[in-house]
Amino acid sequence: MITFTYAYKIKPSKQQVRQIEQYLDICRSVYNYAHAERKAWLDSRKSLIDRCSIQSEYIIPADTPFPGYNLQAKALSEAKKKLPHLKLVNAQCLQQILKRLDKAWTDFFKVPERGFPRFRSKNRFRSFVFPQLGKKCLDVGRVKLPSIGWIRIRQSRPYPTGFTPKQFQVVRKASGYYLMIVFQSLESVPDPVLGKVSIGLDAGIESFVATPTELIKSPKFLRGQLRKLKILQRRLKKKNKGSNNWLKIQRKIAKFHEKVANSRRDWHFKLAHYLCNQTDNIFVEDIDFNSWSKGLFCQQSLDSGIGGFINQVLPFVCWKRGKYYLKVNKNGTSQECSNCGEITGKKELSERVHICQYCNHTESRDTNSAKVIMHRGQRAVGHTVRENACGDGLAGVIQLTLFDLAKSLGAA
Ligand SMILES: [Zn+2]
Repeated sequence: MITFTYAYKIKPSKQQVRQIEQYLDICRSVYNYAHAERKAWLDSRKSLIDRCSIQSEYIIPADTPFPGYNLQAKALSEAKKKLPHLKLVNAQCLQQILKRLDKAWTDFFKVPERGFPRFRSKNRFRSFVFPQLGKKCLDVGRVKLPSIGWIRIRQSRPYPTGFTPKQFQVVRKASGYYLMIVFQSLESVPDPVLGKVSIGLDAGIESFVATPTELIKSPKFLRGQLRKLKILQRRLKKKNKGSNNWLKIQRKIAKFHEKVANSRRDWHFKLAHYLCNQTDNIFVEDIDFNSWSKGLFCQQSLDSGIGGFINQVLPFVCWKRGKYYLKVNKNGTSQECSNCGEITGKKELSERVHICQYCNHTESRDTNSAKVIMHRGQRAVGHTVRENACGDGLAGVIQLTLFDLAKSLGAA
């Protein structure tokens, strides 16, 4: 089953703009309320049992269960009886908001790098989702939103044929309102078949990605235009916060960021097609880029958007072009020699060149990793095309398995 998202700009009437803004407001209030409820529960469990906390007292009884998704969803339908304005919003939309909050909380406890969920200001709450759609909700130049009705869109591209819309998401951006439509295939689409030519991709430090033969640098989308942004930010500082002029500049900054994001995305798609032109099979590392962007590579990886490229754009383009895409184990790709397969030891970040102490093979660190990834991919799909450069005749399935085992022990 294949799903993907198309984005269309909405052309709402004045009344529809009010309606969308009202949706955002009500959804945000539900989000913040539910978040406060969870936070109060958590805080009430924090203070030590034998003393009062200095600042405040929490009076949530000890046997009150944690307000998880199910409890909050139930409370929401109760609340609708007392607060009629909640009924102005589609019921599934509101449930989706509680799910979003629930996910932020579980992510926080599961993924160590995630920050604690926060209350959302108007600027930080920009979208809502319709998880279920009515029949015949798409028409040329317009779509039908549940509870809101027909709304005009700019038909920048035709709807894909053979797919049904599964979900609508309305998003407010600096340049207007957009509708993200998630499409799903009706039947299962056959997976792309393996071809003859393979490449591996290494998410580089020096380069954006490296292939076995090429280092591809990313244009400095944000950093290149940092000066312009700084001027805007300086002007913003001089204005009174919240004033009309302040808002104007704020909007300019938001538009600026949107433009940067658009040109980045455009470049990602071009790069993905460029790579697909060269090869049949693409193998990538299985990296959690979310934790990556919090650490060492922060500024750089956020600016280049490497995670979005590897995990979303590339698999989509590969699928569209009928190319084979696979993630392989990322461990120790920089420690292995692509020529003889030996483990050459850990490299410092500053070490840009791979020099193998066993076979004297010398090449750029990133292209070496890309080759290692390519070989791992080929082994994973059963292409044992690799020649053994050291000439000791270790080719063959059994040896390769032992070889992998030894390596995994070495990497641990
Ligand atoms: Zn070597």
